[in-house]
Amino acid sequence: MDHAKDAALLDLVSTGETAAAAPPVRELADRRKVFADQVDLLFRHSPTGVLISIVVGGIATYELWGENTRDLISVWCVLMVFVGAARHILYRAYYKRRDDNFDNWLRWFAIGAFAMGAVWGFAGAVFFPAHTDAQQVFLSFLLAGMVAGGIPVYSAVWWVYAIYGIAIIAPFTYILATFGTEQFVELSVLVPMFLAVNISIAHRLSRVFADGFRLRHAYSHLGQDHSMLNTQLQDQIEELLQAQREIEASGRKLALFSERAPIAVFEVDRNGTVLEMNPSAENTFGYSSTELIGRSMIRMLIPSDEPILNSEWWKSFVRNARPEAGLKVRCRRRDAVELVCEFSLTPLVNDVGELISVITQCHDITQQLEAERLKKEFTSTLSHELRTPLTSIIGSLQLINTGMLGDLDKEVSELTIIAERNGQRLLDLINDLLDIDKIESGKLQTYPEPLSIDELVRESLLLNRAFADRFGVRMVLLGNPPPIAVFADKKRLIQIMTNLMSNASKFSPQGGTVEVQLEQVDHMARVSVMDRGSGIPPEFRSRIFGRFAQADSAVTRQKGGTGLGLAICKRLIELMGGRIGFADRAGGGTTFFFELPLMNRAAAATG
Ligand code: ADP
Repeated sequence: MDHAKDAALLDLVSTGETAAAAPPVRELADRRKVFADQVDLLFRHSPTGVLISIVVGGIATYELWGENTRDLISVWCVLMVFVGAARHILYRAYYKRRDDNFDNWLRWFAIGAFAMGAVWGFAGAVFFPAHTDAQQVFLSFLLAGMVAGGIPVYSAVWWVYAIYGIAIIAPFTYILATFGTEQFVELSVLVPMFLAVNISIAHRLSRVFADGFRLRHAYSHLGQDHSMLNTQLQDQIEELLQAQREIEASGRKLALFSERAPIAVFEVDRNGTVLEMNPSAENTFGYSSTELIGRSMIRMLIPSDEPILNSEWWKSFVRNARPEAGLKVRCRRRDAVELVCEFSLTPLVNDVGELISVITQCHDITQQLEAERLKKEFTSTLSHELRTPLTSIIGSLQLINTGMLGDLDKEVSELTIIAERNGQRLLDLINDLLDIDKIESGKLQTYPEPLSIDELVRESLLLNRAFADRFGVRMVLLGNPPPIAVFADKKRLIQIMTNLMSNASKFSPQGGTVEVQLEQVDHMARVSVMDRGSGIPPEFRSRIFGRFAQADSAVTRQKGGTGLGLAICKRLIELMGGRIGFADRAGGGTTFFFELPLMNRAAAATG
């Protein structure tokens, strides 16, 4: 047997880590432990066995001592003392140097038991024939006593008892069988039978011992498991208590936040009934918490004709249980004054996906909206009011600059040209501002019609050539574009072309060329405006179509521009069912392009 391996297994088990995970390992270890306990029990009873043998041996010597048998009995006594001493030495060694090699200890013990049995067997075989009837009876009783008395001493391992018993009985049986009288022959049959009965009792006893030891180990495992469970339970309770303390602390923090927050906070259940509200909610809507808690937030605060946060809307919100933010909703205060609030709704969902409650936050944006409206109205009115006189100023300056009103001094002429150009810039800015205003209020409209985009491209080139000349830039049309029909707003398309071509001219190096290309890509007409300028800086790309977006305001201050043009172009193109974009050019520069659906598709799309 591999003891090193078994010892390792025992170690594993004693750590308790693998016990639950690998029951076979624990079972194997228990079997080894039970075996060790059995061997241990044998050794514990060993001194008693030896002592009894010596004492009974002494009595036997006294009884059997005679002239003829003196020598033999002396030899027998020496043997008895020798075996007894050897067994005692083994016993001492076991307790001094006991290791895990219990097979070996058992082997030595069995040899000792056999030797002791053999000494008694010797007595039976040698002394029985040479003595009187009374002494023979005495000897028979002694041997029977030794065989029976061996049961408690050796039955921890039944086969040790069997060896011991056979060593006593076998020679004695032989003597009985060969003695010559009929009764002794009969006895020689009976004696081994008695021994067999004793061995079977010893066998049963050894099983009882083993079961007892097994139970003891199982009980000790139970104790270990129990204390392990107890420790785990203790740890878990401690963790739970800690979590509870943390939750309570964060609950207190949350309550504090919500109490002091300048925004109104409600906690409502899945039906919209108010469960909790903070002081700011009381201030915003004029209700005390006692008036609102337990009542429907929607019925109390939201007008029935409001498209968001009405009963139907709430049902679908509860069904989806997804957070909502930035909802602008009309609300009614306790004093019937209407206000507009911006709502954020956060559903609290448990781990099985059920909605527990909804945290509703809102703040009054009525004044903010009013201020924005006034600002827009002011910008729009101002722009309109500025545009009318400015248009007539530019018209007058154009009249002067064309020379129709007579020749001017060179210096005056230069000044009027500058005045016309700046007037035009101002008008462009005002027009852009008005467009942006329309985009934001959703009022920007296009008026599409069937048109040949190839002609429109050629016309745009002519219109913008003068502008390009100012920057010393040449503008060319690549190839000879075929006729392509689109369904688009002509005025707005020229506005887009003008913006792209003027940008390309502004950002091209002096003496550079801006190339314009028209082509059909899939079912779209694609117009590209390509320059050899410095390109679009990477950090600016995501913002380029935003309002007032300029990569370098110093350059645009010098060359003109508002940062509104591309934002307007994008919206216009989208209104016409197309898309706009840009890409770096191989060899430097940028290509801005837009695509519009071809005539049939665009017409079909607009119905
Ligand atoms: P702007 O009136 O300032 O030209 P746009 O909206 O038309 O306003 O353009 C926004 C910004 O995008 C410009 O200020 C410039 O920084 C950048 N940009 C536009 N077109 C080009 C181009 N072809 N090359 C380099 N930069 C450009």
